[in-house]
Amino acid sequence: MMSKEEKALNVRSEKFLNDLWQYQPGFAISVGQHDFDHLLVVPSEENLSKENEFFKQSLRDFQSYDVNRLSPSAVTDLGLLLNFIETQIWHFEKFQSHQWDPSVYNVGGSLGHVLEGVEKSEEEKLRAILIKLTQLPAYYKAAKKNVLRPTKPHTELAIKQNKGLSSFFKSIGERAEKSQLTTEEKTLFKERLKEGQQAVSRYVHWLEKVLKNPRLAGGFRDFRIGSERYDEKFELDLQSSYSARQIYHRALQEKREVLKKMVPLAQGLWPKYMGQKKRPKDDMKMIKRVIEKVSEKHATAEEFVSTIRAQIPVLTEFVRAKELISLDEDKPLKVRETPEYQRGFAGASIDAPGPFEKKRETFYNVTPLDGMSKKDQLSYLREYNHYTLQILNIHEAIPGHYLQLVYANRTPSLVKSLFGNGTMIEGWAVYGERVMLEEGYGSGSPELWLMYYKWFLRVVTNTIIDYEIHNKKLSRNKALRYMIDEAFQERAEAEKKWVRATLSQVQLASYYAGFTEIFLFREAQKKRLGKKFDLKDFHEEFLSYGSASIKAIKGLMTETL
Ligand code: ZN
Repeated sequence: MMSKEEKALNVRSEKFLNDLWQYQPGFAISVGQHDFDHLLVVPSEENLSKENEFFKQSLRDFQSYDVNRLSPSAVTDLGLLLNFIETQIWHFEKFQSHQWDPSVYNVGGSLGHVLEGVEKSEEEKLRAILIKLTQLPAYYKAAKKNVLRPTKPHTELAIKQNKGLSSFFKSIGERAEKSQLTTEEKTLFKERLKEGQQAVSRYVHWLEKVLKNPRLAGGFRDFRIGSERYDEKFELDLQSSYSARQIYHRALQEKREVLKKMVPLAQGLWPKYMGQKKRPKDDMKMIKRVIEKVSEKHATAEEFVSTIRAQIPVLTEFVRAKELISLDEDKPLKVRETPEYQRGFAGASIDAPGPFEKKRETFYNVTPLDGMSKKDQLSYLREYNHYTLQILNIHEAIPGHYLQLVYANRTPSLVKSLFGNGTMIEGWAVYGERVMLEEGYGSGSPELWLMYYKWFLRVVTNTIIDYEIHNKKLSRNKALRYMIDEAFQERAEAEKKWVRATLSQVQLASYYAGFTEIFLFREAQKKRLGKKFDLKDFHEEFLSYGSASIKAIKGLMTETL
């Protein structure tokens, strides 16, 4: 029986969500809630303050519930809601990225997700966009007004992404032309699209001027957020059992241990790849040379996307054969080239339907390499070679992000599906890599293990870099040294990572923090349950709670014992 308190909480949560969509229609659309497709909120000072007041009122309301009268699952929901709301308030009042990050202003995603919806007809979708387009001039005008002392990397990203919108606008225009819209609507569409494009161009043009003369926006600020903000963000974003400092020190220790495991693997492979050549005395040099040789086995630039496409069924079959976790047959994964307005961050990522649109296809976005120089292509392909590309696919697709998201969308709790915990999500994907190798994926190939450790070392190194950038003023040169000399990365990849590390904070540390917590929890469950422990059951139950924080899932799983 559901308690009165819990019923009241459910009603309040529902109201909260309905209100939230009006303030953040882009969020609604990204999770497949298409009632607000036509809405675009202008980020004016007035609107932003109103939104913040809404969150403060909601926080007071949700804090008034008595957790002792709620079921464990409802306690988790409440925890996720409070965390989401607190994060929103913190972002506006303390972090203030709406001022220093000009790339938060980008209408690409919110327009793109409208078109990807499957429940509406082409004309309904285009009509929603037609209304939305009227807001674009005001949207970008407010954006320009908000930008104050931006960081240089975020300004560069904003320019790049908003420029990418022009080809996207062109394709929307073509779709409208081909549609069943009336002649008047088509004319109107053309006009508004043109005005929208002009608004974007004005914003981009202004940002380009800022890049040359930062004083136009009050000067550039450091992209390093400092220890105080870092600790706060770590706590809000990760909801980990560990502090930022603890994770950082664990990562330093892990780095030493992984390197130690790589030595015998590389020694064993030396004769196969180097023949009679003398082995260097320095182990780091020896490992590096073996990795360089093993990395020569890779796809061509032209075949990069199709190679990834071909690997998905292989992973699926392995997971099925080893009974690691059940797979959902009617949710096929579609590998596609990343739409241009989404490019510029990661090379490959999952774009899955939200909890409101279970029928929409799941995409595996892969950015093709045609935009790169030949030299960069080669460097990138060596980094994502025959072995690491498989680990990437395990991480992104099966049993990593794709599978986890399928399970998250299955959970009856909307709150858990919507306010997913990033550490759980990334931690699961990194854990997925480990479990596949543990279970014999690749038949114990020493090349795959060596490359896996290199890959894992990257996760560990990311944690160290992220922490040191924001807390210890780590320089670009030293960060590149960590990655290239001490983690065997290719230069192109390391340089890309540096850019990413300047654009995000804490996120890069979440992978390792999450992995550690899941791995240790599994080992603890093995010990506790003894012979009753079943890996498939563990995985399925772990994922059945949606993307709740690992801490919360641990609580729920031990509760049911
Ligand atoms: Zn990931």
